[in-house]
Amino acid sequence: MERLIYFDHNSTTSYSPSVRKYLKQGILEDWYNPSSIYFKAQNLYQKIRDCRQFLSEYLNCSSKHLFFTSGATESINTILSLETLKLHQLSGFISSFLEHHATLKRLNYLSKQKKEVSLVHWITSYQGEIDLNQLEKMCFKYPKSLLSFLSANNETGVITNIKTIRQIAKKYHCLIHVDAVQSLGKEPVDLEDWDVDFVSFSGHKIGAMKGIGLLYAKKAFAPLMHGGGQERALRPGTYNYPAIKSFKLAVQDIDLKKQDYVRKLRDYLEDKLLTLSKESLEKNLSSSFEINCKNANRLPNTSNIYCAGVENHVLVLSLAQKGLYISSGSACNEGSTEPSHVITMLNGSADKAYARSCIRVSLSPSNTKQEVDLLEISLKEILDKHISSYPKKFEGILESSNL
Ligand code: PLP
Repeated sequence: MERLIYFDHNSTTSYSPSVRKYLKQGILEDWYNPSSIYFKAQNLYQKIRDCRQFLSEYLNCSSKHLFFTSGATESINTILSLETLKLHQLSGFISSFLEHHATLKRLNYLSKQKKEVSLVHWITSYQGEIDLNQLEKMCFKYPKSLLSFLSANNETGVITNIKTIRQIAKKYHCLIHVDAVQSLGKEPVDLEDWDVDFVSFSGHKIGAMKGIGLLYAKKAFAPLMHGGGQERALRPGTYNYPAIKSFKLAVQDIDLKKQDYVRKLRDYLEDKLLTLSKESLEKNLSSSFEINCKNANRLPNTSNIYCAGVENHVLVLSLAQKGLYISSGSACNEGSTEPSHVITMLNGSADKAYARSCIRVSLSPSNTKQEVDLLEISLKEILDKHISSYPKKFEGILESSNL
């Protein structure tokens, strides 16, 4: 059988054990429309209520604040709207250049809708972290804004300090939306503790089916679509019961204790690559790696790695040929070879060449030390083989080694 070693869990995940079991053994009976009034259908409706209740207990929030959506993109687009501003008499949006495209592109779209006012204000970053001083200045200048931030970055894994953001937000009467897609399953998510207004989640990042998401809304919001009365008419459309159930089962399978193992595995990979870099420097060889945001508070599973001299699409495809799956950044770029906007912004400079040589490795408890060893060996082999263009700082080294 063809080898498949998967290191792209921030992009999507395979089904969790309970979801797998449900898809194999239980899904065929669950085809009724939960909004119909006969027993078989109403039974599913009751089960949706149970799923919502289960999720609210896990997330530590009231079940009446949870709405099923088709994914985080929909949840984000629902909350980041002109209607939300109107409902809460807010002046505009404050967000960062590090956000996922679901936020960036939505806000860019909205800013074009109201050309007469400047609706969106962007925060820059330093080393992948939101500049909190700049955020405070921005909130002072534009009070009563809707702030939207990732809880953890999908490309670097850098975790946002939600508590500090909340303090700033409260001071300037702002509301907060958090894109928590990458946190669920990797770090504790306690919505009472977070004390924010809106949160978006996605099922397929934690082992549920694709096309299911969750929106937590403590405050009023307007529906993105209009139709039936599902989800109190705030998210109309026939319920996708199997996907809802898979979300519940995937959350049930979360075991945060396993993240200690994942962190050790990630650190093991990073240490190996950095040691290799050091040895290469000493021996004038080519393998050179840097770990982006290494010292930041990061998700345990994510590593963003600069591989000197090789473009990331070469790395992704060469590794895939060996049965190793990683990514060059967010999967949402649909095959684009444009460098990641997040990595481009890392040092506050728009260094596209650097970003073009960065890859993302995102692990899960299913990965092993042997797989990580294979990744390290393969990366070294590819770098040794492909060095073609290289950044200035390695020029001297590479020239002296005649590569
Ligand atoms: N936000 C983040 C941080 C993500 O990683 C993703 C998925 O790539 C999304 C939002 C979009 O989620 P979905 O695929 O459920 O629409």
